[in-house]
Amino acid sequence: MKYILFSFALIFLSACNNKPVVNNTNTHKDITETKKQVVVNFDENGAYDFIQKQVDFGPRVPGTKEHLACYNYLVEVLKPLADTMYFQNTFATTFDKKTIPVKNIIATFNTPKETRIILCAHWDTRPFADQDTKDKDMPILGANDGGSGVGVLLQIAKNLSIQKPEIGIDIILFDSEDWGDATGGVEDSYCLGSQAWGKAPHIRGYKADFGILLDMVGAPNATFGNEGYSMQNANTALSIVWQAAASAGYDNYFRNFETNRITDDHYYVWKNTGIPTIDIIHHDQNSRNGFGEYWHTHNDNMNAIDKKTLKAVGQTLVNVIYNY
Ligand SMILES: [Zn+2]
Repeated sequence: MKYILFSFALIFLSACNNKPVVNNTNTHKDITETKKQVVVNFDENGAYDFIQKQVDFGPRVPGTKEHLACYNYLVEVLKPLADTMYFQNTFATTFDKKTIPVKNIIATFNTPKETRIILCAHWDTRPFADQDTKDKDMPILGANDGGSGVGVLLQIAKNLSIQKPEIGIDIILFDSEDWGDATGGVEDSYCLGSQAWGKAPHIRGYKADFGILLDMVGAPNATFGNEGYSMQNANTALSIVWQAAASAGYDNYFRNFETNRITDDHYYVWKNTGIPTIDIIHHDQNSRNGFGEYWHTHNDNMNAIDKKTLKAVGQTLVNVIYNY
């Protein structure tokens, strides 16, 4: 009770102190006006179509012709929208001793701006369906795991080309994220594309205020929690994004439960460049694997994609970008 009384006293005091300031009302009004939210519409139908296009190529497993065809498609979409494009082509060795191509795509918007945000996702898909009960050694379609993050980012690229934001944006599509050891026995076996980029970013001494990774952002009724590494390394960015989601009415997707640390591209971006990066990743507390039931199975097809979820994620990001 003492605490409440104390608060009342404070409010009373500050109200008295404000009284003699003549321009108080006007000043307050100006601040309110400059803080008005810029609203740019995110089109979830466009994002959905971009996912469908990727899935139509089939599984995008590094080194296959479908992978290369999708690469060419992604470049073709981004090139006319971006200010500058960078292409990072290298090779990596997988945990099962295969040499695979790693092709990262970087599209920059408002290239000269010093204040920048990274938006990233992985565009490759997993070569196995190890969580499935059948055809475990066949590659998955990866509509959600891979396709969804890329679909949202391609649609945001369209927004950025039509209406320039105040800040610079770098969209990075990482390759070779999902060719990792399911047992977890081999360290650093996932995220080969972001590991390569982190060690040699597209610009020497590259800096950004923070990064946002999208991974599995399309499932019906998806729930995104506060992931361990995001809280540990990028707490400010996490609050900015979660607050933007809440004010847009998407707090049923952007939840406040905590999840364990998830090894994903955001970890390697932070580890190698120091740029605080969060992971927006579907986490289902009730599922047996912590993700959705479709995860790393042949059910990761277009049925695992819901436009309402794409809207929640895309609109939240667009609100962050145009009001940062
Ligand atoms: Zn995956």
